[in-house]
Amino acid sequence: MILPGATIGVLGSGQLGRMLAIAARQMGYRVATLSPDTDTPLGQIADREVVADYDDLDAIRAFARSVDVMTFEFENVPSAAAAAAAEEAPVFPNGSVLHTTQNRLREKTFLRDHGFPTTAFAAVTTEAELATVARWLGLPGVLKTAGFGYDGKGQRILRTVADLSPAWRDLTGDTSNPSLIFEAFVAFERELSVVAARGQDGAFAAFPVVANEHANHILDVTTAPADLPPQTLRRAEEIARGVLEALDVVGVLCVELFLGPDGALLINELAPRPHNSGHWTIEGCETSQFEQQLRAVCGLPLGSPAPRRPGAAMANLLGDLWVPGEPNWSAALEIPGVHLHLYGKLEARPGRKMGHLTALAETPTEAARMVRLARERMGGGGSTIE
Ligand code: AMP
Repeated sequence: MILPGATIGVLGSGQLGRMLAIAARQMGYRVATLSPDTDTPLGQIADREVVADYDDLDAIRAFARSVDVMTFEFENVPSAAAAAAAEEAPVFPNGSVLHTTQNRLREKTFLRDHGFPTTAFAAVTTEAELATVARWLGLPGVLKTAGFGYDGKGQRILRTVADLSPAWRDLTGDTSNPSLIFEAFVAFERELSVVAARGQDGAFAAFPVVANEHANHILDVTTAPADLPPQTLRRAEEIARGVLEALDVVGVLCVELFLGPDGALLINELAPRPHNSGHWTIEGCETSQFEQQLRAVCGLPLGSPAPRRPGAAMANLLGDLWVPGEPNWSAALEIPGVHLHLYGKLEARPGRKMGHLTALAETPTEAARMVRLARERMGGGGSTIE
């Protein structure tokens, strides 16, 4: 057990690490971060900010020796970095969770092999193979790069045969060994997610299932809990439990799901860490997803994920909001029950996640109305980038 006073080492330095560090500081832990950047969202509040590249394995080993336990706040940490860290300190979740989830093809293959529901998919390594797979699985489909994709980056929707070549060229450029995945398009009714945690003793705790709305492939608004029949909510939670157990996760993991028109659930992707769709838990639940992550990696008992109010919602604040000038903070904060979180990023760019708003209310719909209204009053809407 890693007790208060110990140092939590985090690979990565963005907002997820920052909110984890706030939870850690509250419980008396020290926090250190390693990333290639300075004056970062996490570095601003950590005890120590180490600047090094993720492929500088000596720096990673030295960092790991200086902390009591390591975790990461984004899944694209190279496997070699996770392995180097594990030589010197306990790392949660373990490197194989990272390895599986940082590549869409490995992740979907793992899910299929373990009997979890996903859309039909196939690996694609040449343009000729793309044509064959598109005929076999049918159009529309979605072509995605297998590695390093997030927020809709590295993917194209294929509607007709004429879309295949341009999408192939856009996504592969002059890559020498392209690795892509073709997925059958899911005409989903809703996008849902389950953020859940698993402790070192195998204990499991899921936060309420939420509904997510995206704008330009970036999460825009999360509403909690999702307004769905109890059997669908139970099924989503069962899927999440199964995934955390199959992957032997210690920590928080988010399962993103599509709800099909027939009521069936399909897994879209996994994120082996706290997730944007769980930010509402900071105010909304007995234990936040960040405190839960801390408890899991430190070997402490998991906290209760029970919601504090019947409804909650979160709206992201993207850099677009800053384009006309400084957002009108007080107009948003005038609405009772609206909470502001800013990540301390030095530069606002369109599409960049700068912060979020949370509201709690008597119903999820009312909470969603409040965060949207607050954001509108601040002078902006969702993402304006294409
Ligand atoms: P991802 O980066 O895989 O999470 O994809 C980003 C967004 O693209 C998802 O949240 C969906 O809105 C959409 N999307 C991804 N894959 C599919 C699919 N197979 N069918 C339909 N929409 C998809």
